[in-house]
Amino acid sequence: MNKRNQPPKPLTVKPRYTLAQTMSHFSTEDACKAYLRDLRWPSGVRCPRCQNENVHAVKAEQWRWQCRKCNKNGYRFSVITGTIFENTKYPLVTWFQVGYLMCQSKKGMSALQIHRQIGSGSYETAWYMCTRIRAAMKNETFDQLIGEVEADETWIGGKNKNQHANKRMYGKGEGGQYKDKTMVIGAISRKGNVVCQMIEEAGFNTLQNFVKEAVSQKVTLISTDENSGYRQLTRAGYPHQTVNHSKQEYVVGAIHTNTIERFWSLLKRGIVGSYHKVSKNYLPLYLNEFAFRYNHRENPDIFRALLSRV
Ligand SMILES: [Zn+2]
Repeated sequence: MNKRNQPPKPLTVKPRYTLAQTMSHFSTEDACKAYLRDLRWPSGVRCPRCQNENVHAVKAEQWRWQCRKCNKNGYRFSVITGTIFENTKYPLVTWFQVGYLMCQSKKGMSALQIHRQIGSGSYETAWYMCTRIRAAMKNETFDQLIGEVEADETWIGGKNKNQHANKRMYGKGEGGQYKDKTMVIGAISRKGNVVCQMIEEAGFNTLQNFVKEAVSQKVTLISTDENSGYRQLTRAGYPHQTVNHSKQEYVVGAIHTNTIERFWSLLKRGIVGSYHKVSKNYLPLYLNEFAFRYNHRENPDIFRALLSRV
């Protein structure tokens, strides 16, 4: 491989706050709630239901307001209404600590590791919090990728070698060695973000629809391997180029898929190292988590970015 064509390593920046600073800054429920209020409503509290600005604080209860526009009897809401913290009995102080740890651990942290770091609550609590935070990390309204983009698919999970011999599959292809693995498709802008999702099959329509959704037609280049599922991208208006991995061709000038492969290896090492195994049901949540961290790799206040999504 031509070294000059290797993509730069993902930049990592010093976080704005250390764990100790975060813990001392958000050491009380009031401090967490004040931060959430200012983040949610920077120009004054609004009703989360009707966006009315003319709301009144409930005198008997701090951090609660009332809106009379959407409900004549008064609709009451709090600073956590409509967030992932709603209807949970866990203190915000703990939520914030879990969120901070998940933002800062580059390879991901299992609920067990988080549970040990926090030192309070049960493992189940930590697991529940991690799951909800991963759901919040989903990029609901992403911008289509621009610049030089790479698209690729990969297989995640499955421990073939540990299975009983008669269940072990040989050979490649459907029903072969990938039987118990899950397929993920992704696109990455070399200087920007990644978008990825789980897919059931890698048919032509699936690949093409994913690219059309994730990637702007204004890209300067979209690189893939020789997978024929991408062959119609040129006709769809994309400047599409391929490298032929089956012929040991990996880098031809700007045409390669090294950046997305680097992301795949980050994801796989994270899953194997921290979580050991991820079931198909939860894989989309881990994809949220790894994409979120990658897309905020240059953001010193990734923690704030997370809290603005809850
Ligand atoms: Zn209202």
